[in-house]
Amino acid sequence: MTISSFHPTPRTLMGPGPSDVSPRVLSALGRPTIGHLDPEFIGMMDEVKELLQYAFQTKNEFTIAVSAPGSAGMETCFVNLVEAGETVIVCVNGVFGMRMVENVERLGATAIVVSDEWGKPVDPKKVTQAFIDHPEAKFLAFVHAETSTGALSDAKTLCQIAQQHDALTIVDAVTSLGGVELRVDDWGIDAIYAGSQKCLSCVPGISPVSFGPRAIEKLNNRSSKIPSWFLDQTLVMGYWSGKGKRSYHHTAPVNSLYALHESLLMLQNEGLENAWARHKTQHEALKAGLKDLGIEFIVDEAHRLPQLNTVLIPDGVDDAAVRNTLLQEFNLEIGAGLGVFAGKAWRIGLMGYAARSENVALCLAALKSVLK
Ligand SMILES: *Cc1c(COP(=O)(O)O)cnc(C)c1O
Repeated sequence: MTISSFHPTPRTLMGPGPSDVSPRVLSALGRPTIGHLDPEFIGMMDEVKELLQYAFQTKNEFTIAVSAPGSAGMETCFVNLVEAGETVIVCVNGVFGMRMVENVERLGATAIVVSDEWGKPVDPKKVTQAFIDHPEAKFLAFVHAETSTGALSDAKTLCQIAQQHDALTIVDAVTSLGGVELRVDDWGIDAIYAGSQKCLSCVPGISPVSFGPRAIEKLNNRSSKIPSWFLDQTLVMGYWSGKGKRSYHHTAPVNSLYALHESLLMLQNEGLENAWARHKTQHEALKAGLKDLGIEFIVDEAHRLPQLNTVLIPDGVDDAAVRNTLLQEFNLEIGAGLGVFAGKAWRIGLMGYAARSENVALCLAALKSVLK
């Protein structure tokens, strides 16, 4: 068999991620690869940190991009902060909360699970009760924007509860960063991770992470060695830290970081509040069009993620056949349901560069034509 260069068909990506990558970001990716300890590259890394601080709305010195996808950002937070024998309250209202439990248990720590129904936000009252029942809990972990269900939880309130009980917060912002309001410092988030390929609309494979002062203190006062070498942030700090010499830890994904730099610059140029508003506007347009098609949302209006719209598949419609036709005939990807929503829901993403009027129009027209 002769193998030739791979040229993917351009698609419109309106699923749960990766999202459409803008031409500006794709062209940044093709710039010449330089050494990862080249002074020019180090200067760019410093700008990535500064742009990430803006995106996260934080002054945290330790704000970096982990050289691996969002799942590695999740693991970075748990593996550096949580030690065997400690107790973590973990909120589970979808797939990603379940993965947090898995992370906690693999570290030999205890997960106290606060469950909410899929499609509902985390209930702050249950979290307060969990702290009353488990005063030994040192952490609260939750997913801000549950991509598996399309529900947004009240991160600000959840962080307040954790602070009242002297616990550190670990927050999954993989889908929320750049798409909905998120204020790390104002809300007092201690450790947070995100992803490059959702509302930042960068290529997949990078995970922005930020640790606040209390998380750094916990990290520096651990009684046990961090069980992962690659994700050990005390080592990674020497690679990303501002002053003095950078020490080699691993080889950064040089070109992917150019792409992240460009996507974060686009976010800064647009303005964070404007980006949040754009997601909301496009969500409203999609919602109106879906209503005309008789398609209903799963999540209550008050807790809906604008960037991830979970809708019920109409009765008698073949889930896989529709998604396949959208892909083959319209080059349009929407997401399937996950977990309890498998076969019951579609997940229509309006993330980052995909949150544009032409995408909404294409999606609505294509769905209309296929469902007819
Ligand atoms: C996508 C996602 C992840 C995992 O990110 P990967 O880049 O796929 O590893 C984690 N949490 C949430 C909420 C996500 O949407």
